[in-house]
Amino acid sequence: MIQKLLIANRGEIAVRIIRAAREMGIATVAVFSEIDADSMHVRLADEAICIGPAPSVKSYLMVPNIIMAAKSSGADAIHPGYGFLAENADFVRHCDEAGIIFVGPSADAIDRMGNKAQARATAQAAGVPVVPGSDGVVETAADAAQFADEVGYPVLIKASAGGGGKGMRVAENADELEKQFTAAKNEAAAAFGNDEAYLEKYLAKPRHVEFQVLADSAGNAVYLFERDCSIQRRHQKLIEEAPSPALTPQLRKKMGEAAVALVKAVDYVNAATVEFLLDKDGKFYFMEMNTRVQVEHPITEQITGIDIIKEQLRIASGEPLSITQDDIELDGHAIEFRINAEDPAHDFRPNPGRIDQLIVPGGFGVRVDTHCYPGYLVPPTYDSMIAKLVIWAPTRDEALARGARALAEMIIDPIKTTIPFHQAALRVDDFIAGDVATDFIETHQIDIEDEG
Ligand code: ADP
Repeated sequence: MIQKLLIANRGEIAVRIIRAAREMGIATVAVFSEIDADSMHVRLADEAICIGPAPSVKSYLMVPNIIMAAKSSGADAIHPGYGFLAENADFVRHCDEAGIIFVGPSADAIDRMGNKAQARATAQAAGVPVVPGSDGVVETAADAAQFADEVGYPVLIKASAGGGGKGMRVAENADELEKQFTAAKNEAAAAFGNDEAYLEKYLAKPRHVEFQVLADSAGNAVYLFERDCSIQRRHQKLIEEAPSPALTPQLRKKMGEAAVALVKAVDYVNAATVEFLLDKDGKFYFMEMNTRVQVEHPITEQITGIDIIKEQLRIASGEPLSITQDDIELDGHAIEFRINAEDPAHDFRPNPGRIDQLIVPGGFGVRVDTHCYPGYLVPPTYDSMIAKLVIWAPTRDEALARGARALAEMIIDPIKTTIPFHQAALRVDDFIAGDVATDFIETHQIDIEDEG
């Protein structure tokens, strides 16, 4: 078993990983940038090492500094969390060379699945349905136009290296296509240093339904059911729930087995998420595989009782899965509300700053994963998510009521957060009915109370 774990991340996920490691008797090493010196993960870890100044390219993305920190502290494993280096195959190769366990899949598996165009081809070969799209990368606007004429508009231009909604543009008609194709490529080049793009048919009103999978090095793989992440702004998730209100037990089994088949087809080891779009007729299409733990993993933990971070650590230590598919039971309903330092009344513009007052809700079925504390300064440098409110209840209706109760208790002052957005969403009939698609925010009147 891993003895000492370095966490190559910050924020709530670093805290989450430190907690799991501590319960397993694993020593922890935090790394931090200068601006994060007072951050919670630094306080909670057994040791902490500064790896550079605030900009992530000079700290949390600095591979040599992180490897050096692991070596000098004697850590035998690194957990990357999500974001930063989590899906960086080169980083995994550096860990391999240094003899450090990377808590995640192999570099080759990341290469195979991290490139979206290639992942689509792999899914097709494994018999998993994919969104109608171009065969591989599309080089020119003329080729893109030809594809769009074949499948019909609207089409979606996607960066092969994309993530976090970046490098993705919709073209409604031929006039828009050239402009959007160039825009997507430019955005991808700037964000990922790779301007390859491909096309997909833009599906009307899909739901985003993703399956959590765990696979060990002995070739066992299980699915821990699904998460419905249809509530998004600018293609980024805001509210997730498990199970999806849209799945029947039969469809759940079919999609879960497709996800496991894909994971097995690429000899994948550790935690993965297989993302699908689901249309109104119950047809599902593979979108991409995320080769890391997801932000929204806690809702799966709440309905299965399985600690995904601990499973990751056990798998990385070479242990076989302790569970089989038949052991996994779906219990109740869970919802995650992402609390971001953003002003939802003004187009979700970032709102970093000092938190003077912080009141965290509690009670039965309420879990808050956060790195914030009263007096904490939310830096403008990183992701705007500052907390995750995770609700569990025996039924969806009870989870909605509990969510509203907990959100009303939660106070984060004076910065603006997405709390009023969530409260407003909980008042929308279609959300209450579970009748939503990824265009929910654009197509619904959501009366957010402006806090001024
Ligand atoms: P990223 O990796 O940047 O998060 P994804 O491929 O996961 O991008 O897609 C993010 C979101 O974009 C999806 O949840 C969905 O809302 C939307 N989306 C992606 N592909 C399609 C498509 N072909 N048709 C309609 N919506 C799509």
